[in-house]
Amino acid sequence: MPRVLLLTAASLFDGTGSPPLRPGAVLVDGDRIKAIGKRIDAPADATRIDLPGATMLPGLIDCHVHLSDAGLPDATVQDQDPPSLRTLRMADHARRTLEAGFTTVRDVGGRDHLEFGLRRAAALGLVRTPRLVLAGKIVSMTTPGAASWRGMYRQADGVWDVVKAVREQVAAGADVIKVMATGAVLAAGHERPGVAQFTTAELRAAVETAHGLGRRVAAHAHGIEGIRRAVEAGVDTIEHGTHLHEDPGVAREMAARGVFLVPTLKALTGMATPEGPGIPEEIAAKARERKGDRDATFRLALSEGVSIAMGTDAATPFNRHGENAQELGMMVQLGMAARDAIVAATSTAARAIAREDIGVLAPGKLADIAAWDGDPLADIEVVRRRPLAVFLAGDRVV
Ligand SMILES: [Zn+2]
Repeated sequence: MPRVLLLTAASLFDGTGSPPLRPGAVLVDGDRIKAIGKRIDAPADATRIDLPGATMLPGLIDCHVHLSDAGLPDATVQDQDPPSLRTLRMADHARRTLEAGFTTVRDVGGRDHLEFGLRRAAALGLVRTPRLVLAGKIVSMTTPGAASWRGMYRQADGVWDVVKAVREQVAAGADVIKVMATGAVLAAGHERPGVAQFTTAELRAAVETAHGLGRRVAAHAHGIEGIRRAVEAGVDTIEHGTHLHEDPGVAREMAARGVFLVPTLKALTGMATPEGPGIPEEIAAKARERKGDRDATFRLALSEGVSIAMGTDAATPFNRHGENAQELGMMVQLGMAARDAIVAATSTAARAIAREDIGVLAPGKLADIAAWDGDPLADIEVVRRRPLAVFLAGDRVV
């Protein structure tokens, strides 16, 4: 007999942008939501969980993390660690993320494919993690960034090598393909974030191969030329998008084609205004130079109606797993309504990662639910606290 749960709270926000229900109730049958409403009569076999004063939201979704890495100022210090330690560290990062109310993460670059083992361990019930949408290794042209993140890059040059690199990730179990359309901030100083990397032909090859295999493509892109090529090639999400404001026409193209922007505001903040020492100066300087661009791009994306999906880039310096919800506050500071920041981290995020079975509290969806004491629609900082309760497919995990 599947377990039946009735959850009640002061309020329920379904993640779509519809007005909240006050009070709110969710009926869960097994791993799915059976009903939502202001009040629901409990069936005789239901277990009742009352969360007075709380707001229920869909479990939050972070579209851009790297579970392999802790958020150290210089990630290379862990390069010599054995795979066993790295895997256990990854499990710890996943647990912290889940306990913060994030029931799904998209990992857009793991190390040595250890993340696929973590997902199997979660499926076997050995560890608890959020749902894991995985990219495997990042497909990139030959570049210094690969040395900064050992085991995270699959360097590929030329159309057929790119095709092979994409197929390798899918064979390993990837749900999404991550490509580098421009240089990175977190790489040796002579790798430039503003400069386009893959040619349009290489990007098209990646997209055609991934889409042909039913996988989406996420493109890391800071500089405008790389963003332009990635959008032209047909990628599904632009990660960072820092210099998008330099060509509003590209933003309009993204809005028209339904290409999502994953702004990762936390990443640049952690590097440009670090909490502590240890970030190599050549990297900090690249971050500081781009903060104004990042903010201008976020505002442009809002005004042009680009779909914004929440992502943190957790793993970059001082951007720790479990503190993902800070990103929502940053989005609100740049002009997004609190309600829309929650939508970006729920229903829009679910669409960005092609998981229409989560991200919304509605009958038939998976019962991924998180509840916080207070009203995050009135004060977004509420979601930075530890949630009162978290359900993953109907199982209470917090
Ligand atoms: Zn990243």
